[in-house]
Amino acid sequence: MNLNDFSVSHTEGKARAGLLKTSRGYVETPVFMPVGTAATVKAMTPESLKTIGSQILLCNTYHLMIRPGEKVVNHLGGLNKFMNWSGPILTDSGGFQVMSLSKLRQLDENGVTFRSHIDGKKFLLSPEGSIRIQETLQSTIIMSFDECMPFPVEKKLAEKSMKLSSRWAERSKVSFTGANGSMLFGIQQGGMFKDLREQSALCLNNIGFDGYAIGGLAVGEPQEKMFGVLNYSTDFFPKDRPRYLMGVGKPSDIVGAVLRGIDMFDCVIPTRSGRNGQAFVQDGIINLKNAKHKFDEKPIDKNCSCYCCSNYSRGYLSHLVRCNEILGSMLLTLHNLYFYTNLMKKIRELIQRGDFTAFAKNFAT
Ligand SMILES: [Zn+2]
Repeated sequence: MNLNDFSVSHTEGKARAGLLKTSRGYVETPVFMPVGTAATVKAMTPESLKTIGSQILLCNTYHLMIRPGEKVVNHLGGLNKFMNWSGPILTDSGGFQVMSLSKLRQLDENGVTFRSHIDGKKFLLSPEGSIRIQETLQSTIIMSFDECMPFPVEKKLAEKSMKLSSRWAERSKVSFTGANGSMLFGIQQGGMFKDLREQSALCLNNIGFDGYAIGGLAVGEPQEKMFGVLNYSTDFFPKDRPRYLMGVGKPSDIVGAVLRGIDMFDCVIPTRSGRNGQAFVQDGIINLKNAKHKFDEKPIDKNCSCYCCSNYSRGYLSHLVRCNEILGSMLLTLHNLYFYTNLMKKIRELIQRGDFTAFAKNFAT
């Protein structure tokens, strides 16, 4: 298998189990990428991430270009050395955060001018700039620069934006050098409109990318709408390339998206929920802030073999959470990421056995 190659080993309907070979090692898919916004997965050490089976992380270009700046990261040996993580790292293009976090942004054909949400400093992010920053960070998987539209959006606007993103995808590809053995993924846009999604994908396919992401979903639309778009949008991409659904999601979103042909995911839900005192279990979410757990000797999940569930009671965790103790965030984040990592492992095994569709039908978390 060549570097930066992807192979599908098993399929069940549209669901796929496969292997992605990056310059930083193999990734078994479907995979969930924990979010390490500022070159750290909050409340987790890289050692704990390895222990629970995380294979690949996501870092945010917008945050890192503002603080500490890509040149600092490069000077300190690139993202992997900087944060002491030897596995693959995917960086987003910064486009989504510019839209959601920055102030006084101005968008034109060239790119987006914006002021940092930290200190008001002015930046320009263009397709060329985003690729250069991601290459300077020494990311393993680089995302092309796009515009992400909110939900709902009318068709005319979605079409105009998708065409701009297509031109930006072309410019991203042209400026990508492939230094450090990186891969480049394109991002499909087009809102909730089938013909626009198809046009966007055709354009990306013509440019040619190492992988294809579906953008513009998980922006506040109901799950049925998202599944509606996924029902057709993965079909427009080549079968031999990985497909990445950006910013998704809840466990049931992930299961439903795998069923529709997605291979890669990222989301802040498991980490953010952990810091908010919430723990994922088979049939939903437990809120440890709740006083009913005060005297509870049981672990979060008796069937979970993570470090948290092997050693701590709900009563103790509830105490930590209600006192805002840092260890509470650490233990719950670890459990939640373990839950997600194990869910993905189970999904891969089920696809390999041909039992995934039946599992997905009854999955409700
Ligand atoms: Zn656990």
